[in-house]
Amino acid sequence: MRVWIEAVAGLIFPAARPPRPWPRLERPFCERCAEPFPRPRPESFVCANCGKRKWSLTRLRATYLEKGSVREAILAFKYRRQFHLRPWLGRWLEDGFRQHYAAEHWDALIPVPLHPDRRRKRGFNQSAEIARWLGQRVGLTVVEALRRVKPTVPQARLSRAERLRNLRGSLALVGGFDPQGKRLVICDDVFTTGATADACARILLREGAKEVVALTVARR
Ligand SMILES: [Zn+2]
Repeated sequence: MRVWIEAVAGLIFPAARPPRPWPRLERPFCERCAEPFPRPRPESFVCANCGKRKWSLTRLRATYLEKGSVREAILAFKYRRQFHLRPWLGRWLEDGFRQHYAAEHWDALIPVPLHPDRRRKRGFNQSAEIARWLGQRVGLTVVEALRRVKPTVPQARLSRAERLRNLRGSLALVGGFDPQGKRLVICDDVFTTGATADACARILLREGAKEVVALTVARR
């Protein structure tokens, strides 16, 4: 069904192109959470927040900042079902992968899961869609290894503390996937505090993953 809609959208809007994505997430940024730093810094650094915080993820990276055309494209894809944007978002995710992670070995891409109720309502999981694009391009398997076991309130308007409370006990590993010894990349469209991706990483590490990092199209 989705493929069909995508094909029709491609026929109706053959020239539909999102404007040039901008701005890119560039160094200097925090080596852990990629928080950009306004002034040039010669050495790599960890921001004050990450200095205090216990992360399960070793790194979070994004291709762009969540602004302008990038933010528009993400919202249009996710909430207005503009399926013709999938290859563009996929390409933008791929750019970030090539920039930040391509030099290392990874075992699989793990999309951030949606609760089944929300997935049914939306009709697709945007994270899985763009992860599949990336997986095909860079030759990595996409494993939907995690599931939401309780519905969470949308995170967008919550503080960090509320996000963590909201996420507690909300994720579980799907049977049949063994993270033991694996190096995994969590994929999503956007991250704000990174709390969701980190909750995913915590479960995968608890089940024996060797390292878990995150990659999104954009960073808030
Ligand atoms: Zn940081």
